[in-house]
Amino acid sequence: MTEQQKRHLAREQKRKRVMRNRFFLAFAVIALFFAGFVFARSMNRLSITLNGPEKDTVECGSEYSDPGALAAKGKNDLSPDIWIEGTVDTSKPGDYTLSYHISDGKHEKSVERTVSVVDTTFPEIELEGDEEMTVYVGTEFEDPGARAYDIADGDITDRIAVISDVDTSTEGTYMVRYNVADRAGNAASAERTVEVVKRPAGSSTGGKSVYIGKSSTGYTIEQRDGVYYVGGILVANKTYDLPSSYGPGDLLSEFMTAFNQFKADGARRGYNYRIISGFRSYSYQSGLYQRYANRDGYAAADRYSARAGHSEHQSGLAADINSLEQSWGNTAEGKWLADNCYKYGFILRYPQGKESITGYMYESWHIRYVGVDVATRIYNGGDWLTLEEYLGITSEYGADPAVGR
Ligand SMILES: [Zn+2]
Repeated sequence: MTEQQKRHLAREQKRKRVMRNRFFLAFAVIALFFAGFVFARSMNRLSITLNGPEKDTVECGSEYSDPGALAAKGKNDLSPDIWIEGTVDTSKPGDYTLSYHISDGKHEKSVERTVSVVDTTFPEIELEGDEEMTVYVGTEFEDPGARAYDIADGDITDRIAVISDVDTSTEGTYMVRYNVADRAGNAASAERTVEVVKRPAGSSTGGKSVYIGKSSTGYTIEQRDGVYYVGGILVANKTYDLPSSYGPGDLLSEFMTAFNQFKADGARRGYNYRIISGFRSYSYQSGLYQRYANRDGYAAADRYSARAGHSEHQSGLAADINSLEQSWGNTAEGKWLADNCYKYGFILRYPQGKESITGYMYESWHIRYVGVDVATRIYNGGDWLTLEEYLGITSEYGADPAVGR
C-alpha cells in the first residue's frame, strides 16, 4: 500500500467514525424524547390497582370485608369513583369474582379479585334427649335421635348416620353413636349410652329417669320413680298417672311462692284469692272420685273428677281457687286470674272448649304451676292452649304413655 493509499484509508475510517457517532447521538436524542413523552403520558394515565391479594379466602358464615382497589389519573385519586361488579355470598362455599372498574369518560380500566368461600367449620351435633338413658327390658327403644346444623349446609339432621347396638331384650349398657359430615367433609359425632334394666316391681327407679317415648311435639317422655315427666314437666292426667306412693303431703314450695305473689298483687286490686283445695293424696282422691261416681255415675264423674293417681291435686302443683262454679270465670276475680296467672307461672289447666283434649270440662278455678316460661307459651297471648297441646300428649284413660299422641 502506498503512503497515499494509507492516508486515504485513515481519512475514510475517521469519516465513518464521525458518521456513526452522529447517528448514535441522533438516536439517543430521539430515544430520550420518546421516553420523556411516554413518561409524561404515563404520569397522566388512568390506573387501577387492587388493594389486598388477587386471591382471597373467607370462611363460610363470616363476613367478607373487601379491601377494595385504588384508582388514579395523574395526581388525582379516583378511588371513590370505582364501581364493583360481583358479590361474595359467604353463606355458600365457592369461588366468587369481584371486578373493580374505573372510567375517566374516555377509557375504562378494571382489575379482578377471586374470593374463595371455604367451609372448614365442623358441624354441630346435639343429642335430643339425655346423654344417658335408661329403658325397661322388653320395651321398644324409640331413639330420640340427634340434630345437626352446619354453617354452610344449614340443617343437616337428615345426614346423621346412627350406629346402635341397643338390644332391649337383654339387660346391659349399650352405645348409640351419631355421625354426621357436612358437604365439605367436616365431621362431627355424638354418643349416647342406653342402659336396659328390668322393670321394678314397685314404682321406684332409684331416682333414675327411665325413657318412655317421645311426644308428638318432640318432648321426651320419661318416668322417674313412677312419675311421668314430659319435657321435664310433671304430668298427671288421664293418660299419665301418679303412683299411689307419690305425695308431697302439701302444695310444693314453688307453687306457694308464686301463689303468694299472685295473691298479694291481686289484693292490691281489691281481689281476694284463696285456695279451696290444694294437695290431695292418692287415697283421698280415690274416695272422692268414688263418691262422685256413686252420685252421678262413672261416665259423668270422669268429666269433672279424676280417678285415683290421675289427679293433678296429688302432684302438689295444682289447686282450686275461690269457687267450683264455672261462672266464677266471669267475675272480676276470675277474669283477672285468667288474664294474669301466667305471669306467676300458673296455667288455667282446663280451659273452656278444650274438654276433648284435656279430658275435663272447663274449670275456671283450677290452676297448675308450670313456671313462667311455659305458662307464657301456654297462655298464648290470651288464646289458651292446653298442657296436652303444648307438650304433645293425650289425656285418655288406657292410652299408651309411650306414644304421647
Ligand atoms: Zn282442681
